[in-house]
Amino acid sequence: MTEAERRTALEAIASEVRACTACRLHVGRTQAVPGEGHPSTEVMFVGEGPGYNEDRQGRPFVGAAGSFLTELLGSVGWKRDEVFITNVVKCRPPDNRDPEPDEIAACAPFLRRQLETLDPALIVTLGRHSMGRFMPGARISQAHGTTAPVDPATGAHDSTVFAMYHPAAALRTPSIERESYEDVARIPTVLIESRDRRNGNRLARREASLAAAAATAATSPIGPVAARPDAHGDPDDQLTFF
Ligand code: SF4
Repeated sequence: MTEAERRTALEAIASEVRACTACRLHVGRTQAVPGEGHPSTEVMFVGEGPGYNEDRQGRPFVGAAGSFLTELLGSVGWKRDEVFITNVVKCRPPDNRDPEPDEIAACAPFLRRQLETLDPALIVTLGRHSMGRFMPGARISQAHGTTAPVDPATGAHDSTVFAMYHPAAALRTPSIERESYEDVARIPTVLIESRDRRNGNRLARREASLAAAAATAATSPIGPVAARPDAHGDPDDQLTFF
C-alpha cells in the first residue's frame, strides 16, 4: 500500500467511526475520536478511550495525559505526528468509566482495520484495557516495559507489542511517572528488534515463495510462473525513525 492509499483508507475508517452507532457509547459522545497520526508510521500507540477534552475536540490524547504522552515521546526524540495514536474505543465512556467488554468488542473492527492499514512494526499499549487486547491475561504491574509477539488475528502482521502504563496513571502516581520514562526509553531498541524480526520473516517467506515458484516451473508444462514474494507489501515505503 502506498502512503496515499493508507491515508485514504484511514480517512474512510474515520468517517465510519464518526457515524457509528454500534454500541451505547455513541449516545453520550460530542465527537467520536477515530485517531490520528502519520499514515506510514512504524509505531502505533493504543490507549483506552477518549476523555473529556478528546470528546470535545475529536482528537486523541489532547488533555493533560496527552501532554505527558508528548513529553514521553520527546524524551526519545520523537514527535507525536510521527506515530499514530488511537484508542480501543473511539467514543467517550460516561464519567470516564472503564470501557465495558461489549463496547470494546463492538469497536474492535475499527482498530483491526487501522492495524491492517498501518501495518505497524510496533504497537505500544497505554493502560490495561489496551494491553488486554494484545496480551490477554497479563497484569500491567508486571507486563509494563515488556514485549510480546502480536496475534495476527488483531489485524497486525509480524508485529510486536510493548506495554506501558496509561499516561493518566503516571500523572497520578510519581513512581509510575518514573517507570513510564524508563519504559519509553526502551522503545527505540524494541522497534529495531521488531523491524529486524519482521524483515527476517519477510525474507524467509520471499525465499520460500521463490523456491516454490522454481519447483512449479520445473514441473509445469506451461513454463515459469511469476512468484508474488510477499502478499503483505514491501516495508520500504514506511516512515522510519532511524
Ligand atoms: Fe461505534 Fe466504537 Fe463509538 Fe461504540 S465506541 S459507537 S463501536 S465508534
